[in-house]
Amino acid sequence: MANFIKGFRCTLCNKIYAEKEIKYTCPSCGEKGILDVEFDYSSMKKFVDKYYFKMNPDFSMWRYYLLMGIDTKYIPKMLKIGGTPLYKANHLQKSLGIKSLYIKDEGQSPSGSLKDRASGVAVLKALENGYKTISCSSTGNAASSLACHAARMGLKTLIFVPKRAPIGKLNQLSIFGADVVMVDGDYKDTYELSKQAIDYYGYYNRNAAINPFLVEGKKTVALEIAEQLDFSPTDWVAVSVGDGCTIAGVYKGFYDLFMLGLIEKIPKLLGVQSSGCSPFVNAFENDMELEEAFENTIADSISVGIPRNPVKAMLAVKNSLGSWVRVDDEDILKYMRKLGSKEGIFGEPAGVAALAGIRKAVSMGIINPLDSVTMIMTGSGLKDPLNAEKACKPPILIKNDLKALVNYLNEKGDK
Ligand SMILES: *Cc1c(COP(=O)(O)O)cnc(C)c1O
Ligand SMILES: [Zn+2]
Repeated sequence: MANFIKGFRCTLCNKIYAEKEIKYTCPSCGEKGILDVEFDYSSMKKFVDKYYFKMNPDFSMWRYYLLMGIDTKYIPKMLKIGGTPLYKANHLQKSLGIKSLYIKDEGQSPSGSLKDRASGVAVLKALENGYKTISCSSTGNAASSLACHAARMGLKTLIFVPKRAPIGKLNQLSIFGADVVMVDGDYKDTYELSKQAIDYYGYYNRNAAINPFLVEGKKTVALEIAEQLDFSPTDWVAVSVGDGCTIAGVYKGFYDLFMLGLIEKIPKLLGVQSSGCSPFVNAFENDMELEEAFENTIADSISVGIPRNPVKAMLAVKNSLGSWVRVDDEDILKYMRKLGSKEGIFGEPAGVAALAGIRKAVSMGIINPLDSVTMIMTGSGLKDPLNAEKACKPPILIKNDLKALVNYLNEKGDK
């Protein structure tokens, strides 16, 4: 099988390692030395062109395996990941005040979030390397997606979640048969304990940024967006940011296509965080290194006080000539209602944050009203029913009686 991997480059010291030499991070930089998979684009070009995509009968993310540096052996047994819809959002674009808006609905992934793209690759790599158990710490979605794909492929999972994880995500873990450890602490504490446990037991590590192949999975969302827009992606792509792996992946996908000569420009990336936890936006605004932030937002998936992929995420926004914004939880709830009522899409708070971020960026003059924008809706609202309840009024109870119903509807003012 063709493999176009040139090596792994450390994002901190730029040292290059051979693929076989290394499993997770840079030996000289330690845990902060996140590696990036480097490809030989001039060789890849000979295989991957528009014709290659056009003739490709696989409509899952595995259609991009040549660009991901993965083995295809286990793919036929896996659940379908990727191939999510990209919708034009005619109603919402009007209320946001922009010319054109697209929504990439990752809520339709097998476990209901974009994390499936990374977890699928993690499971493949664990199988390739002969592991029986795979482990991670997660605010929720990385965990539930890992448990989902591991279950399908017969791997065991040991999962660490903070005690605040929403009920829908916890139920997913139980149903997928994971061994769940709920840590009495925040995400940071959860991460620390998982790290120690993974070292101690020698399990395969699916922790956020540690594993360089996870970004190769996440980048497929950008490859799909570009293909769905006939290789003319929008001026901007907006995505919510916690650890920073997703936005790094989005950049990598567009970068690959740019290097292959398949798109003319890389979209500007808008990184969106919640005001309750915005270490990236703080660093961007004050032009300084990232500092630890409190984790205090309803958007649990992006409530990450110490982001694990800071360098790649900052570079992604910078190199794309993009920007960072923060949004209040109130606005996230408001846009949960709007996305649902105007487009029929139900998102979890972190999934919808990007939409509120687009509005914010338009009002700040960062996004021009004439620009086209893609919003990545990263996770399904069904995962977090309690926050959905906060976003809207519950139905009222009426008697089993037509008169009572008519009275109620008359008072409400719509019939
Ligand atoms: C994980 C996640 C994000 C953010 O991804 P990071 O890699 O942590 O930046 C955004 N939305 C949802 C729904 C997620 O699960
Ligand atoms: Zn290094």
